[in-house]
Amino acid sequence: MAGRMLSIGECMVELMQAEGDLLRKGYAGDSFNTAYYARLFLPADWSVDYLTAVGTDTVSDDMLAFIAGTGVGTGQIRRVEGRTPGLYMIHLKNGERSFSYWRSVSAAKALADDPAHLRFAVEASDVIVFSGITLAILAPDAVESLLSELRRAKVAGKSVVFDPNIRPRLWDDKARMLETIRAGARAATLVMPSFDDEATHFGDIDIAQTIARYRALGVDDIVVKDGPNGITLDFKDTQQTFVPAALVENVVDTTSAGDSFNGAFLAHSVVHGNPADAAAFAAKIAAGVIGHHGALVAREKLLPPGQG
Ligand code: ADP
Repeated sequence: MAGRMLSIGECMVELMQAEGDLLRKGYAGDSFNTAYYARLFLPADWSVDYLTAVGTDTVSDDMLAFIAGTGVGTGQIRRVEGRTPGLYMIHLKNGERSFSYWRSVSAAKALADDPAHLRFAVEASDVIVFSGITLAILAPDAVESLLSELRRAKVAGKSVVFDPNIRPRLWDDKARMLETIRAGARAATLVMPSFDDEATHFGDIDIAQTIARYRALGVDDIVVKDGPNGITLDFKDTQQTFVPAALVENVVDTTSAGDSFNGAFLAHSVVHGNPADAAAFAAKIAAGVIGHHGALVAREKLLPPGQG
């Protein structure tokens, strides 16, 4: 059955050390990574669109061309005169990665500033994906504009998918961070947290507590990712299920493990319907992503031709 997926958030320019002072440019961001992996594994009769805001400069043009080149639709991306995309740099020192960000005035902060555009894009979609990072970059009134549109989508029976992706450095106030993450979950039908983050910031002592907390906020379906320890699925209509992680012999780069899991999970589940099978597929894809460098790994490195 054909459908439309929309992912909402910020894609940034990524600069990575290539050789000495030479830098290589890429593009990444959690919500875009998820859209990328959903596109890789969805059939052609599904569209995947990205909703963000960019500027009207050359870097923004290049980013749109890159996104379009992955097959993700750019028709819902707002262009804001005078703004530029956020940027981050990956530093490599003795095999350890660290990050510097320039995103405090990025164009993506304006993604929810046109209510008519937001409504049109959400109404045109069947599955809408957003994250705690999407909420973290927005001013409080923009968070409210976005969430009220998503609550409307939930009432209309659409799938609204939320990955809390809790990043304290993006928030200036911990209480507002936790309250906004809760508000995000209330607007969602499916929440896909990583247990590590939930334990650190909400103080959950086990996965059962994470599930109970989101269920109490009115979330029907919950997928808790727990790195190599596997995935727990708690869906309204089925019994709680545990799915083991796939074995990774050589962890190369864990960037985007959770995002690739989300994209692959959604692509599989909207077509086949069975959450446990979707989680097993997504675990296999995330394991492949971890075994390669970079956030966006090519399909042929993850699945042999003709499979999937
Ligand atoms: P995030 O990257 O968002 O913190 P997790 O660390 O929970 O998310 O990882 C997401 C998924 O990636 C897990 O559910 C699991 O399937 C897979 N994964 C992560 N780390 C490993 C690992 N070391 N070995 C195997 N699978 C892993």
